[in-house]
Amino acid sequence: MRELVVATGNQGKLRELELLLHGTVEHLYSLRDYPGIPPVLEDGITFEENAIKKARTVAVATGKPTIADDSGLVVNALDGQPGVYSARFAGEDATDDDNNRKLLALMADVPDNCRSARFQCVIAYCLPDGACRKFSGELRGVLLKEPRGKDGFGYDPLFLVPEYGKTLAELPLHLKNRVSHRGCALGEFLSYIKEAG
Ligand code: IMP
Repeated sequence: MRELVVATGNQGKLRELELLLHGTVEHLYSLRDYPGIPPVLEDGITFEENAIKKARTVAVATGKPTIADDSGLVVNALDGQPGVYSARFAGEDATDDDNNRKLLALMADVPDNCRSARFQCVIAYCLPDGACRKFSGELRGVLLKEPRGKDGFGYDPLFLVPEYGKTLAELPLHLKNRVSHRGCALGEFLSYIKEAG
């Protein structure tokens, strides 16, 4: 593929997507290359809505094919929270640490056998004419009672991947990408691109 814009300002996501797209896209751009595009308000109530809104706005503004991901953590014991509000769980300007502290506090009394959670990701791929397709991925795991590991971003230090016995923050990026919600959704996107030629 000749050119693609990745519509994200999240450095953690961008690092993962750049590694996953390496070798497939000749010229990869991100929002850093388009500082004039105002931030897209993520006011949808589903991952799909937000991903499509971000990708379509940026594809139309740049005139280039664009992907955007919307993703988040869905916790069974919290009735699906934080979901689409994952980035701002502890407030509009919350840091990853703030969000993790809030999650730990809400989960403090939840017993070990009820701490299952999943990451979900929807990647929207839009063309400058507004046409879009979406691809999704999921990763199931268990929430720990204290953080472990230094890599990754967001809720990674609290999210144990049972098949590795490690949190996402303890896995090297290439392993996280192999199993993650974003890796799965992007894998679907890459198959589509290869088939479409
Ligand atoms: P978005 O930018 O609205 O898609 O927000 C995604 C938020 O979900 C991030 O800021 C993180 O808090 C969380 N999140 C999504 N994917 C991951 C991941 O791979 N690891 C840890 N947290 C994630």
